[in-house]
Amino acid sequence: MALLGCIADDFTGATDLANNLVRNGMRTVQVIGVPAGPAADSVVDPTTVDAIVIALKSRTTPVADAVAESRAALGWLRESGCERFFFKYCSTFDSTHEGNIGPVADALLADLGADLAVAAPAFPATGRTVYQGHLFVNGVPLNESGMQDHPLTPMTDANLVRWLEAQSAGSVGLIPYETIEAGPGAVRKSLDALRRDRKRLAIVDTLDRPHLFTLGTALVDAALVTGGSGIAIGLPAAYRAEGLLEARDNAAALHALGGYSAIVSGSCSTRTREQVAEFAQHRPALQLDPVAVANDVDHEVQAALDWAAPQLDEGPVLIYSTAEPAAVATTQANLGQAEAGALLETALARISQGLVAHGVNRLVVAGGETSGAVVRELGVTTLRIGSQIDPGVPWTASDHLGLGLALKSGNFGGVDFFTRAFEVCP
Ligand code: ADP
Repeated sequence: MALLGCIADDFTGATDLANNLVRNGMRTVQVIGVPAGPAADSVVDPTTVDAIVIALKSRTTPVADAVAESRAALGWLRESGCERFFFKYCSTFDSTHEGNIGPVADALLADLGADLAVAAPAFPATGRTVYQGHLFVNGVPLNESGMQDHPLTPMTDANLVRWLEAQSAGSVGLIPYETIEAGPGAVRKSLDALRRDRKRLAIVDTLDRPHLFTLGTALVDAALVTGGSGIAIGLPAAYRAEGLLEARDNAAALHALGGYSAIVSGSCSTRTREQVAEFAQHRPALQLDPVAVANDVDHEVQAALDWAAPQLDEGPVLIYSTAEPAAVATTQANLGQAEAGALLETALARISQGLVAHGVNRLVVAGGETSGAVVRELGVTTLRIGSQIDPGVPWTASDHLGLGLALKSGNFGGVDFFTRAFEVCP
């Protein structure tokens, strides 16, 4: 049975968490939204995973919606047999005075009948640390890091105890540096003391990787943990030490897929443009013409598929709308910014669907929004997480579609990513 049920407040955060869990030895499936039916009819087979991550879109929705969705996710994960739960948010604690971190944590605690949860956003390897309850980004206080200007969740206070207390119905404590430095026993004592003080949530000072392991050990029995994906480093080790999780060296194994392979790219980010140029030097690559697509999308989709089909036997092909900034500006001036984006996302999503119908079962997609459109068009509901191609970009598999997908947002991956992706499994 899956041990850990996770609720992530956005899609890329869910993937980041799932990737970290797999790399730390937990077989993990990411589920897109709360599945409609009962857990028993689930597309996830809980006997083949150690963790399930439900990806919500609840970071900036109204508080009541975020709470309702998160509670539904918790209910579904409990029905699926999960015994411990993790509420994942961004390592920069993206939230407002109203929520959604505090209210969601309050509601999950209440549903679980639990009395206290830690709030541990730190991820020292990516420069996010917490000291004296204050969050730092690469050594700079959160409210001077650029996050104070975030369009949706301006973080104007680095003091997370104060910030979280404004959101939560309960009171918020701190597990200070000296305590976490003293080890898991000291953290447990501190949690007991916070309980006696009737604290509901506790920010944890976390400065380095050993602190993540200390935290994992101290929280091995916790019904609910909240925080960033750094938690995925310490908890699996603690579960193994406690005999709750088998040691495995193949958590990233996916079913081998041996069909055709292809890449679609709608990202115009610098790194993607380099990746397209590199791939086009030695493999077939077709650039969509946005004006032609705007005039007759059906025709252009079919033309791209007719171009690709006879070449799939020879190896991966690339179909892209990726363009240089000047060309993007011209297209946007002609078609409108949002309209051009939506149009090309639709075209690439339909092309992806067509490629899969032609026998492509390993597909790389470049672009965050583009990936969203492709996943929707294909009807992907779950993604099992596999081996990492480059930092932060794993192969994933939709088990029910028998399809391998690598979803890469803009600036991720090395220059030869499109070539190397197919050298890594699946
Ligand atoms: P990234 O991860 O690099 O931000 P996204 O897919 O999230 O990539 O966003 C890229 C956006 O640009 C998408 O909406 C896409 O449809 C749009 N786009 C792609 N190609 C072009 C183009 N040639 N001209 C204008 N917009 C484009």
